[in-house]
Amino acid sequence: MEKINVATYDDLKNVIKESGRSYDNSLIERAYRLANSAHEGQLRRSGAPYISHPLSVAVILVNLGMDTESVVAALLHDVVEDTSVETAVIEKEFGKEIANLVEGVTKLGQVPYVSREEQQAENIRKMFLAMAVDIRVMIIKLADRLHNARTFQYLPDEKRRYKALETMEIYAPIADRLGIRTIKEELEDISLKYLDPVANAEIEKRLKDTWEQETFLDNIIKVMNERILKEHPKAHIEGRIKSHYGIYRKVYMNGRDFSDIYDIYAVRVIVDSVIECYNILGIIHDMFKPIPNRFKDYISTPKQNMYQSLHTSCFDRSGTPFEVQIRTWDMHYTAEYGIAAHWKYKMGMTGKNSMEDRLAWVRQLLESQQEGEDAEEIVRSIKTDIAPEEVFVFTPKGDVMSLPMGATVLDYAYKIHSAVGNHMVGAKIDGKICAIDTPVQTGMIIEIMTQASKTPNRDWLNIARTGEARTKIRSWFKKEKREENIEEGRAILLREFKRNSINPTEEELEEILESESKKQNLAGADDFLASIGYGGFAVSKIIPRLKEEFQKKHKKEEKPELSPIVKARKEKKGISGVEVEGLDNCLVKFAKCCNPLPGDEIVGFITRGYGVSIHKKDCPNAIMSKQREEQPGRWVNARWAGEVQESFQSTIEIIGQKRSGLLADVSMLFNNLRVDLHSFNAKELKNETLMFKITMAVNDIAQLNFVINQVQKIKGILKVERVTG
Ligand code: MN
Repeated sequence: MEKINVATYDDLKNVIKESGRSYDNSLIERAYRLANSAHEGQLRRSGAPYISHPLSVAVILVNLGMDTESVVAALLHDVVEDTSVETAVIEKEFGKEIANLVEGVTKLGQVPYVSREEQQAENIRKMFLAMAVDIRVMIIKLADRLHNARTFQYLPDEKRRYKALETMEIYAPIADRLGIRTIKEELEDISLKYLDPVANAEIEKRLKDTWEQETFLDNIIKVMNERILKEHPKAHIEGRIKSHYGIYRKVYMNGRDFSDIYDIYAVRVIVDSVIECYNILGIIHDMFKPIPNRFKDYISTPKQNMYQSLHTSCFDRSGTPFEVQIRTWDMHYTAEYGIAAHWKYKMGMTGKNSMEDRLAWVRQLLESQQEGEDAEEIVRSIKTDIAPEEVFVFTPKGDVMSLPMGATVLDYAYKIHSAVGNHMVGAKIDGKICAIDTPVQTGMIIEIMTQASKTPNRDWLNIARTGEARTKIRSWFKKEKREENIEEGRAILLREFKRNSINPTEEELEEILESESKKQNLAGADDFLASIGYGGFAVSKIIPRLKEEFQKKHKKEEKPELSPIVKARKEKKGISGVEVEGLDNCLVKFAKCCNPLPGDEIVGFITRGYGVSIHKKDCPNAIMSKQREEQPGRWVNARWAGEVQESFQSTIEIIGQKRSGLLADVSMLFNNLRVDLHSFNAKELKNETLMFKITMAVNDIAQLNFVINQVQKIKGILKVERVTG
């Protein structure tokens, strides 16, 4: 990449022209004009006019292959921060998309960074990625940092070290994760120069003295060209020397000797197809002596950042080791530009902001080249790396805290420390007073204000979203407020009693409290009420039972309203069972594969030793088994005999459009219908849908159909199906 550190507008125009891609030049010109006048009179530390910085960033982005929007945003990226121009002006002049990019870059610039242990650095990296809802924001930020790094020499010593460390710990790893090798290596090499100048000088000296790099590489390339071009006339061969930091890692961090590094020199062979890659590998192993155990196939198993190539190491005739990297052009662009290759070489796709879009091209790239499973794995790991379910916020000191999506300021306070939560009086987000139920968002700096005399409020249990905060609040109430808890518990219990028309006399109430506290293994009525009071015990668990007991005892005239299911169950009488043709009183069991219900057409299968197993007539197992030759005699006709008293397990699958309250609606329906549930599972599928799998006890097919019918009435339900087999 060409390095222009004091760029002019002409430089930008030139690289745009050289790129051969089409840009909206008039839009870029307008952005330049605005930036130029806004930064008028400002200077960089180097003494260069300030505008040279945004221009240089724009040049880097053009070289990376980024689009017009990114280039315009680069020109404007310091305008909001450093001048009197406001975001609203940018939005009016250049549209929402560019305004969002500029705002994103500005916000990232405000993230305080305090170097700490690895975990902290990792959190900041994740947060950066999460904040860059449009990944172009991250790429512009990287280009911004790259140009600043190129001019680190003008910073005062102290600041330079700090910036170099930040670059090494935060920015270079992000460039690596996005696969932008060109930026990653330059950032690392510049930082190394300031972080370990002694080692860096040593590396430079070794490279210069010990190896005549240029000639060595030139010779290898020449020999290779002679042989390879004969068979692959379109192959491109180039050489490269390992980055300083790459050498530093091996020698100074892993304690290896210079002479053990086999890949200081690398020769790259770039071709059109994957087949050619393997073909050329053979030719190279024929020409040079390969070093054992150095072959790596990153084509069939790409690295996490999508890097693909074949690697091998060989000795040349003089015994000097070197590495060979063989790849297609596609792989090459991805290796050099990573996620940015998406804009550079896959024109026509615009960088919109959804995660799916961002990753679609990764998936496409991977799927076209290898088996599904690994690709899925990689895409998943990129996704979880930038998990949208996680939110990162800062303490005023610059520590990063991670919280689940939806967590509130209150959760954050308890996450810091229970004492902070318990004595919280208020909070500030980015310096402004906020409500304690404000949901936290990535990038916020949150300050909690406390007062020793302040104590938690019961409503906080509804505000807290994390289990951690709730537990801490409850344990405070449990410890501190016994009397209050007992009062509160009594109030809650009586309120629930009233709602459910349970109205016991004083004596009855005492009886209930006494027996319930025993059931919960508590010392007495007060303990029981206290545990309700601080939220440790949910009354809803016992209300249905108490209601039933109470009603039984009082035999109220007005019958409780029963759902058809309960009525049906009550009215059922008669003998349970199934009649099997030709067999009297045989032992019968119901097949687990299809769970037949009274009302289903059924058949019997005479098992060896366990009587007759009853299947649905259309059970796939039954149909298949009947077709096997040795089986037909074992299948017998069967039918339901009279009315069946027992209940049967049956499973249904429900698919519904995701919305808040859907889960509650479904579970409430089953509660209201008073269906006995054996299991209740819900999970989220793709396309914003939820799937429930519910196993319940029913008496017959009519009841099951009734349930299915009721479920279908719930808003947003797309499909309800009985699961058999
Ligand atoms: Mn900048």
